[in-house]
Amino acid sequence: REDALHVTRHQPSITGDGCLVKVSANAEFIEEMAVVRDSGAEHVGLFRTEFLHLEDPDASEDWLADCYTRATKIMAPGEVIFRTLDLGGDKMDPRMTSEEEPNPFLGWRGIRASLGRRDLFRRQLRALLRASAHGKVGIMFPMVSGVEEVREARALLDQCAQELMHEGVAIGEDIAIGAMIEIPSAAVSADLIATEVDFFSIGTNDLIQYTIAVDRLNERVAGLYQPTHPAVLRLIRMTVEAANKAGIRVCICGEVASDVELTPLLVGLGLHELSVTAGQVSRVKHAVRKLSLADCRTMAEEVMCHGCMTNGYEKTRSMAMAKY
Ligand code: PEP
Ligand code: MG
Repeated sequence: REDALHVTRHQPSITGDGCLVKVSANAEFIEEMAVVRDSGAEHVGLFRTEFLHLEDPDASEDWLADCYTRATKIMAPGEVIFRTLDLGGDKMDPRMTSEEEPNPFLGWRGIRASLGRRDLFRRQLRALLRASAHGKVGIMFPMVSGVEEVREARALLDQCAQELMHEGVAIGEDIAIGAMIEIPSAAVSADLIATEVDFFSIGTNDLIQYTIAVDRLNERVAGLYQPTHPAVLRLIRMTVEAANKAGIRVCICGEVASDVELTPLLVGLGLHELSVTAGQVSRVKHAVRKLSLADCRTMAEEVMCHGCMTNGYEKTRSMAMAKY
C-alpha cells in the first residue's frame, strides 16, 4: 500500500464526485525543501520562518532573501506561503525582549511582536518581497487578533514594496497576502478581516488552545484538547463562510490537517486546501480520493447539529476508514 501511495503522490487529489482538494506541505528549513517537493505537495501552505531566524537572529536582509529565494525556486512553479515571524509563546528569542512575561501565550507573540519590532519586521518583509521575484510567494501574518493588525502589517508591506521599487529591485507581481485565523476573535471577525486579505489559513493548533483554554503543551490537560469540540468546529465553519462570502481562499495548516481520520470532516466543512506534514501528503491525498464531497458535507452537518465531540470524531473516523 505504501508503494501505491508513493506512485500516486504527485497526482491531484480529487474526491469521487469531482472536488479538487489541494494538498500542500508545511516546512521549516531550506534543507528539507527537496523532500517536501518530493512528497507530492504542489505547494508549501505554511513555511514557518522562526527557525531560520533562530539559526541566526542577526541575519542580514541579503541572507534572508537568499534563503527565501532558494525555498521559492525549489517549489516553482508551486507557491510557497511564508508566515512572518511567530516568535513568543513557545518560540522565545531572548534577543527580542529581556522581559519575562507571566503568560507568554497571551503576550507579545506573532504579529504583535513584529509590529513592535519594525526593524526586524521590515527586514523580513523586504527579504520576502525580493524572493517573490523568483517564483510564487505568498505572505501571511500569524496570531492576528483583529482587522487593525492586518491593516498595519499590510501598510508596512506596501511601504517596503515601494522602497524596493525606488531602489530598482525586482519584486513579484501577484503576491497573495493572508491572515492566519488561530485566535477566536479573528474567527469571529473573519468577515471584517476578509476585506483586507487574499486568503485565510486556519491554524488549529492555536485555535483549539485558545478556544478551549487548554495549553497545547501541557500534558495534564491534553485530554481536553479536542479538534472536534463543537466550538472549534463552529469557528472553523464561520471562517470558511466568511472566506466564501468574500470570495477569498481558505486553507488549513494546523496539525489536524495531517490526520487522515479528520479529512472527511474538514472536507465536509468546506476546506479544500490542506497544508500537512510532508510525511503525510501522499496519505492525505489518498484519503481524499476515497471520499465523496456530498457525503462529507452531510456528515459535517450532522456533526455540527449534534454538538458532541465524541460523536463528531467517530463519524469522521468511520467515513475515513470506509472503503469506497
Ligand atoms: C497553528 O497554530 O495551527 C499553526 C499552524 O501555527 P504554529 O503551530 O506554528 O503555532
Ligand atoms: Mg499558531
